[in-house]
This record gives sequence, C-alpha cells and structure tokens, in this order.
Amino acid sequence: MHEITLLSGKGGTGKTTIAAALASVARDAVFCDADVDAADLHLILKPDILEEHRLESNWVAIIDDELCTHCSLCVEYCRFDAIHYKPSGGLEINPFDCEGCRLCERICPEQAIRSERNNNNFWYVSNSRFGTLVHAKMGAGEQNSGKLVTEVRKKTREIAQNTGAKFIITDGPPGIGCPVISALTGTHKVLMVIEPTKSGLHDAGRLIELAGNFNIDIFAVINKYDINDQVTGEIEKYLHENSIPLLVKIPFDTVMVEAMLQAKTIVEYQPYSNISKMIHQIWESIAETEYTEVEKVK
Ligand code: SF4
Ligand code: SF4
Repeated sequence: MHEITLLSGKGGTGKTTIAAALASVARDAVFCDADVDAADLHLILKPDILEEHRLESNWVAIIDDELCTHCSLCVEYCRFDAIHYKPSGGLEINPFDCEGCRLCERICPEQAIRSERNNNNFWYVSNSRFGTLVHAKMGAGEQNSGKLVTEVRKKTREIAQNTGAKFIITDGPPGIGCPVISALTGTHKVLMVIEPTKSGLHDAGRLIELAGNFNIDIFAVINKYDINDQVTGEIEKYLHENSIPLLVKIPFDTVMVEAMLQAKTIVEYQPYSNISKMIHQIWESIAETEYTEVEKVK
C-alpha cells in the first residue's frame, strides 16, 4: 500500500483541486483530507457521512483574576512560558503557548487556575463516488490540527489495510508546521503543487527541505504555470538542481473553476481536455512508476 500526499507549502495553489482530480482517475484507493484547518475536498467529492467521531482537544489553562494574588508561582513554573503579566497588571495565559500540562492548576495556592477543553474537533468516515474518504472538521477556536491530521491518517491507513486498497491519496495541509510534519510521517511519496509566484517558490523550497529530512520521494507539478513565465523558469531550475521530477505544467484555465462550481473534478467535467490528460499523466507517473523511471517535463 502506497500513500501519496499532496502538499503545497502555502494555501491557494490548487492542491485540493488536483487531489480531487486524482481521486477521479485513481483505482484501488482510499482518500484522506488532512488539510483539517480548511478541509474542502468534501465540497467536490460530496461524500455521504457513515461515521462521525469527536476528537478530544488538549486542556487549556484559564486564570480567574478575582482569585489571583499575583504570587507569580505559575509564571515561574510554566515550562512553556505561556503565562505573562498584562500591561494592565493582571495575568494572562496565551492559549497558543499553553500545552495543557495542568501544572499551574495544581500549584496555584489560591485555586485561581482551572483548565478547559472545547472538544469541537470531529472526524468522519464517508462514502464518495470515488471511494472512501476520511476527513475532519476543526471547531472554531480549536487547536491541535496536528493531532487531528494524525487521527484521520491513522483511520485512512486502517481502512486501506482492511480493504486491501493499493493507494492512499492524502490532501495535505499547507505550510511547514506541525500539521505538515504529521502528514509527512510515514507517507511514501509527496506531490508538490507549486504556483509560479515568488512566495510559491520560497514556500515550496522550505517544504522540499523539510520533506528531504523524511527521505520521501518528491514529485512536482506547477499549476497555472503561464501566469508568470519567469518564475516558472526559476521553479524549473530549482527542481532540476534538486533532482525533483516535474511531472506536468498545468496552464491557467477558467474551466477548472467552472468544474468546481458544478462540484465536479476537471476529469469529470471535461474528460478529453488537455488538463484531464495531464491529470492521468500525473497519476500514471506517481502511482505506477518508480521514482527513477519518471521522465521529466522538457
Ligand atoms: S499561582 Fe495562582 S495566585 Fe499565583 S500568580 Fe498564578 S494564578 Fe495567581
Ligand atoms: S497548563 Fe501547563 S503549559 Fe499551560 S499555562 Fe499551565 S503550566 Fe503552562
């Protein structure tokens, strides 16, 4: 069983559109939407939900100003430097730095700290017209997208193993943070979707560096390559210098948007178009050919 993960280094490159299109040509595959912060593969795949599960969030500490005597004990003991004095004098806990260890709650002599968790993260197993999809929904204000990514990937692998599926196609999260590391761990191949902008090239470079540490085969696609020929040239040079096969260069075409508006993949909407042929080419290259046999785009 092979897991192929689509990543982009940044949002808005067309990664999900390409993931959905690959889903429509893949055979013997289970699909996973690991872009849990902005999960939208389901908008095209329109799945029927079979199972809904709640994922418990981490604890986050909260200070009661009324009870706090400003002894500073919690500030001193928080290993994650999450507790600070506000300019106005009171204490506050940064929920993004708080790791939910609950030490401050135990040591506070005034019982001025309590911990809460929202539990608004859900993940689903669904049926789509192309096969099983495992996806998630992060609740407002929830953190821990890395944990949610790990959960949806674990369930996808379990389903693939139980059904004897040959492939997992994962729509990965953008960026290079914790959710991406969770998505890279244990994946076999990465398909980078790059857009020809300076920031697209920069972010792709950082992601390629990160994926390199995991010793994973990396392939690339340049999406909307003709919106900036100069940067496309720079990306091609970068990929060549880093021995990353460039599978196809997809032109900008409003037909991609038209297909999405009808909740169809490009392969369903215009099966004989050039872009649909490219989608087939990507799939054949990445799924059915070994890394060393992939031909680079001239
Ligand atoms: S340990 Fe308790 S009383 Fe002391 S500063 Fe922290 S919250 Fe306030
Ligand atoms: S729960 Fe742990 S990480 Fe969070 S503020 Fe308290 S001591 Fe710091």
